[in-house]
Amino acid sequence: MTAAGISAATALTGVTVGTVPAHAGVGGPTRQRVVVIGGGIAGVATAWLLDGQHDVTLLEAAPSLGGHAISVPVDVDGHRAMVDIGAQFFGPYSHPIYNKLVTSVLHVPTVPNTLDNTVFQYGTQTPLMVSPSVDRPITDLLQYLPALQAVAELMDGARDLEARRDWKVTVADLVESMNVDEKLKQDFVYPYVASVNGATVTQGKEFSARAALALAVRPLVDDRTEYVNARDGLGSVISALADEFTSVSPLINSGATGIARHNSQYLVTDSQGRVHPADHVVLALPPEPAAALVAQLPQSGPLARTCGRFRYMPARIVIHSDPMYMPQSTADWSSFNITTDGDFCEASIAYSRLRGDVAVYKSWALHRRQEPKQLLASMDFRHPLITPDFILAQGELQRRNGEDGLWFAGSHVFDVDSQESALYSALTIAASLAPESTNRARLGTLPTSPAAP
Ligand SMILES: Cc1cc2nc3c(=O)[nH]c(=O)nc-3n(C[C@H](O)[C@H](O)[C@H](O)COP(=O)(O)OP(=O)(O)OC[C@H]3O[C@@H](n4cnc5c(N)ncnc54)[C@H](O)[C@@H]3O)c2cc1C
Repeated sequence: MTAAGISAATALTGVTVGTVPAHAGVGGPTRQRVVVIGGGIAGVATAWLLDGQHDVTLLEAAPSLGGHAISVPVDVDGHRAMVDIGAQFFGPYSHPIYNKLVTSVLHVPTVPNTLDNTVFQYGTQTPLMVSPSVDRPITDLLQYLPALQAVAELMDGARDLEARRDWKVTVADLVESMNVDEKLKQDFVYPYVASVNGATVTQGKEFSARAALALAVRPLVDDRTEYVNARDGLGSVISALADEFTSVSPLINSGATGIARHNSQYLVTDSQGRVHPADHVVLALPPEPAAALVAQLPQSGPLARTCGRFRYMPARIVIHSDPMYMPQSTADWSSFNITTDGDFCEASIAYSRLRGDVAVYKSWALHRRQEPKQLLASMDFRHPLITPDFILAQGELQRRNGEDGLWFAGSHVFDVDSQESALYSALTIAASLAPESTNRARLGTLPTSPAAP
């Protein structure tokens, strides 16, 4: 960010977002052409923040904007609900800036969540752990005391890592240091941590422990998890942003296929064969497709290699009305139910308990032994495997962000995989490219974000 950019952003808000290198700024109010590639929350938020300040073309490969923020309509027993098949939860402690955007600026309606957990082994009657909840007598849970104590110790460890901002300790390091019975570690603790990250036990051990537990511990206030959902799904947040576009041209079904540098401008080619000249290009894409584009630019080897250091794991989400992935006894049902099955450990979210609406289930189902009978929707995703090296690669991208007008946005650029980090990445770009952004001004003074490096 230029000195002018920093002082303008600070004067506007009282808070400077992000650290952007000095070579990156545009240095003034000149209207420029910006091509944003990727229409997930990072790309849509970047376009929204630059709106009115620059001429922005937003290229999205899919038939709609949203990326992982995608909501599907479901009808069950005469009731309709919008269900988030991808990202879903946010709240004031884990997602302070995103929460402010959604509730105070866009006024998108939200619904509270009841978040409790049951962990059980496939095919067995008695769960490994059932967490406390408003409707559960505490005496019924005494049998789960060792597991509950292990969770408390895990959360203490996570709080300590958050306080020290330590990404280097892995899940295996943290769990091995715990004062917990070996069998409980293997049967319960490792699968529990892995499942909240969409990982297998083997993959889960490699995670940075801070990253693996961040979205479990940050919203935990007085033993209550402060999370909400958007009532009509996170797709409604994307629509609210896109509905306000004035100088942004969103083009769907228009994936970027080529990028070239010609004199002092970029030429971005899309899948329809159109060529978009740009002064700045924002790659609001997961690292793999971003690397494929970066590699087309001259002398881009090191940057493309940095993109290649971000590892991802496949995930499949199914929305269904068949309770087959729930614990055998309904008394043990929680809103978040984890089945362990060898190296696999996948969760199933029960909407009826989570938010008191339709009887649908959202389940991770890459490794399940059987398909649910009443399948309503399914989608394939990729979750990041956030190792200590993933965090180092983030630092490298942050340092090079904006070099020669080439920017990186997305949840992989800062912190852990969340709407908050994707939005934070957009804000750092806007602080440099559009310090006078009127949409940025609507956010006012920003709360401190856990996504900040
Ligand atoms: C199942 C699941 C549950 C999750 N739950 C939560 C949650 O509860 N809370 C939370 O905060 N986060 C959650 N996340 C994480 C969250 O979804 C992501 O952090 C965030 O949505 C990523 O946004 P993004 O814009 O960086 O990337 P994406 O959403 O991946 O967007 C990238 C976009 O780029 C497009 N694209 C790809 N290639 C090209 C190309 N060549 N040209 C143009 N466009 C292209 C893609 O189609 C996509 O639309 C979840 C993720 C998943 C998968």
